[in-house]
Amino acid sequence: MSQEVRVRFAPSPTGALHIGGVRTALYNYLYAKKTGGKFLLRIEDTDQTRFVPGAEEYIKDALEWLGISPDESPWKEGTLGPYRQSERKSIYKQYAMDLLEKGHAYYAFDTSEELDAMRQRLTAARVVSPQYNSITRTQMKNSLTLPADEVKARLDAGEPYVIRVKIPRKEEVRLQDKVRGWVMVHSNTLDDKVLMKSDGMPTYHLANIVDDHLMKVTHVIRGEEWLPSAPLHVLLYQYLGWEDSMPEFAHLPLLLKPDGNGKLSKRDAEKHGFPLFPMNWKDPDSGQIAEGFRDQGYLPEALINFLAFLGWNPGDHRELFTLDELVDAFTIERIGKSGTKFDINKAKWYNEQYLRKKPDDELAAYLTADLEKEGIQIPQEKAEKIAAVMKERATFPADLWKEGRFMVFAPEQFDKNVADKKWNADAAKVLAAYAEKLEALDKMLDAETAKSLLTDAAEECGIKLGKVMQAVRLAITGVGAGPDLMQVFEILGKEELIKRIGFSLKTLGIAG
Ligand code: GLU
Repeated sequence: MSQEVRVRFAPSPTGALHIGGVRTALYNYLYAKKTGGKFLLRIEDTDQTRFVPGAEEYIKDALEWLGISPDESPWKEGTLGPYRQSERKSIYKQYAMDLLEKGHAYYAFDTSEELDAMRQRLTAARVVSPQYNSITRTQMKNSLTLPADEVKARLDAGEPYVIRVKIPRKEEVRLQDKVRGWVMVHSNTLDDKVLMKSDGMPTYHLANIVDDHLMKVTHVIRGEEWLPSAPLHVLLYQYLGWEDSMPEFAHLPLLLKPDGNGKLSKRDAEKHGFPLFPMNWKDPDSGQIAEGFRDQGYLPEALINFLAFLGWNPGDHRELFTLDELVDAFTIERIGKSGTKFDINKAKWYNEQYLRKKPDDELAAYLTADLEKEGIQIPQEKAEKIAAVMKERATFPADLWKEGRFMVFAPEQFDKNVADKKWNADAAKVLAAYAEKLEALDKMLDAETAKSLLTDAAEECGIKLGKVMQAVRLAITGVGAGPDLMQVFEILGKEELIKRIGFSLKTLGIAG
């Protein structure tokens, strides 16, 4: 039997979950579901200085909203928990000791002043990226340079220390990434990263490897920004004797600015006015609120579909995929290598598609909720009809009411541009004749009748309907463009139409 796929999303709770992180979570989710495996959420909170209250719950809520909740998480423990690294503190030490014993790690006692001095020395000697590495460690205070008894004395005295990995001087580290292919790195470009801090907490690198191993993670699917850490991770797997069960790696392409030039940044989002977080996030320090996709009116299914295509495609022309369809179609092989442009217009397009697919009663619920905020009530049937007509022009649920106000409130003024260009005596004449026909109608007005009466009115006046159509729209809705006018007439009904015609004839006059 082949091994069960186990993938994990491992965010650090240092603030709101970035949209790139959501994409990572989604790809992990898709892969797990596709393979019948498990999707884990592990909170990587070993850096207590960067802990932000509320961030964990935010991650949980965002995944829930999007319908990609994990199978195992701090809130739904599986058998390999805990799922919060701060609760696993006691686990890591033994692995650091193991590395020390095998000679793959060492104690370092350097103070931050000494580390600074080392960096300054190297900078002065024109070293481009000064590092604690196989060369510089020989001049520092660590268990490789100090006599054994001094090391012991320092440890016994409780002197602060860190444990660093001992990166070999000349070695080629290779790893096969499922997206990028073979990646090869020379060990002289790696530094002796801290594995365990003076507070006894592991760093990301150690905790991440130990946890992936203990939680039986089979595939590490994460953002490309972690690719530079991967060679160190491969070495740690080797040093800990876990090479045979090392997970496979897949590093996801970067999200790029809308114009494709460079990494997507907060500034781009601010400049173009699009969100970078799935939901609103209130910064606990500043109290400032950063708007999220959900709160701007994006539907979860639209955001999911949009994110799935940021770095992956099904290999054909299909673009609309429900979450289940994505699960079916998803393969790691179809994840692209090159960075992918963050095009918010595409996200809007998806939103429009999914909004239009919604049943009228669901759309009506958005509309009535917005109306209620203004203390307005309309019959459910009418709300459904308005929603059905307005959805064709809406990007967000709020647009149904924003763009559809005229369906409830008669215009008090008219778009001046359109009035100047289109309003004339012919239009007034047709409308007056139309009002008379409506008066004479002895049944409920439907779209078809609305159209035939209008056609008749124009004909009787000897005026081409096409020439006055925009003016007719203006007279009834106040603007020059909008949804299917005859549907609008049906919803407004005969009485309201007659009233509106009367008002426009009076207000716009019979210019021209
Ligand atoms: N804690 C890391 C992060 O914040 C996890 C990276 C990984 O998936 O290995 O993204």
